[in-house]
Amino acid sequence: MKLSQQRVEAYSQLGFISPITVQGKIILRKIVSSRFDWDDPLPEHLLTEWNKWSQNLPDLEDLRIPRIIVPNLSNAVNKELFIYCDASELAIAAVCYLHVSYSDGSTSTGFVLGKAKVAPAKCTTIPRLELCSAVLGVEIAQIAVDHLQINIDNIKYFSDSRVVLGYINNEKRRFFVYVANRVARIRSYSEPTQWLYVRSEKNPADIGTRGIHPADLQNGLWLHGPSRIEAPNVSLDKDSDFSLIQPDVDVEIRLNKVDIENVKPNGLGNSVFEKFSDWNRLNFALATVRKFIRRHLNLKRSDGSKNMDNVELLHNTEQLVLREVQQQFYESELNDIRDSKPLNKHSSIVQLDPFIGNDGLLRVVGRLKHIKFDSSFKNPIILPAKHHVTTLIVRKYHEDVKHQGRHFTEGRIRSAGYWVVGCKRLVSSILHKCVTCRKLRKEFQCQKMSNLPVDRNNHLFRLSALICLVRGRC
Ligand SMILES: [Zn+2]
Repeated sequence: MKLSQQRVEAYSQLGFISPITVQGKIILRKIVSSRFDWDDPLPEHLLTEWNKWSQNLPDLEDLRIPRIIVPNLSNAVNKELFIYCDASELAIAAVCYLHVSYSDGSTSTGFVLGKAKVAPAKCTTIPRLELCSAVLGVEIAQIAVDHLQINIDNIKYFSDSRVVLGYINNEKRRFFVYVANRVARIRSYSEPTQWLYVRSEKNPADIGTRGIHPADLQNGLWLHGPSRIEAPNVSLDKDSDFSLIQPDVDVEIRLNKVDIENVKPNGLGNSVFEKFSDWNRLNFALATVRKFIRRHLNLKRSDGSKNMDNVELLHNTEQLVLREVQQQFYESELNDIRDSKPLNKHSSIVQLDPFIGNDGLLRVVGRLKHIKFDSSFKNPIILPAKHHVTTLIVRKYHEDVKHQGRHFTEGRIRSAGYWVVGCKRLVSSILHKCVTCRKLRKEFQCQKMSNLPVDRNNHLFRLSALICLVRGRC
């Protein structure tokens, strides 16, 4: 009880002595978190700490605070608020100064409001605490603007945490809830351009988090602000580029599901294909997106006609996907063929003697040139076995043949105009995993016979059965 009374006696509504009072609050929190009973004696180390703090309080009696914030405020030509924020493991603090310029070039700065609080218990990291101090800075700026009742030309916020400045200036990435809520609160009242960097040794809010001896408060940084405020010709420690610090490591930043910068400009990417488990649905979805884009951009075909009918669009989309797959797997082969160079002898498709068809797809030359078959059958499209799209195609034609065996599936794939490199192994693998095939090919189950009933197990029954058998023979 006595501790609380002593702590409350040291009180200042505007925060002139906040660096002193916050030290008392920190000691009180240590005592409360230690879970003593109300009248238990304090442990030695806490009692020493408390006595040291409380015995220095009488030095505050000599503290003198000027009645006015800045002289000749009515003659000032420019009025700015400078807000400084800082945090330590134990406390967060923010302090506000009014900085005015006069027509003769002189300036003046005065303390307006300061706050220092015990660090929120749920904050586990320094960046979070620094962010809380930035929120506190915005709050005291609002209080100052509301109560000063003068026209403020500009408000500048200073923090010594580049992580927090990166959060506030971020436009690309999304945060988890804790940071997102606080950044939204900061940005609802301030613009990122108002936030500047200040070195820790020049940050007056640093005093609020570390504490100060009462005798040093009168001439300290907390009440007077940094000297550079009074010297406008000295450039501020500002840095225009506050990007996120190590965004891929920072646990507060959400992972981008689609990193737009890493997507190839002309490629669809496997991440799109792997979202689908059905070849037809993949094509239909992509065709729908293409249709929307063509309509939105008012794209025209090379022959001048505007619209592509649905069947043609679907076929065109299929070819687009297949070209993408071949580009991923056979890029060097495609380049060699385009440059009329022989293929590398170690290429997996060198035996197929491939060529690029009119549709831009890599096809097998084959030996059926003089046979009157469709060209897609004579020159099938080459596909790699280890690609999700190939798996979807094989699965589709396996279902087309009603889950028949490997030879039927392979034949259907071949007749559809595809040449899968490593087809046999891929089809076997897909059949092995196919639930329908497993059900269809499962061995018939035989019911286990139960024990004979007691009546059929006595000698009379066996005798009658024997008589029947003998008579039957006769
Ligand atoms: Zn099957």
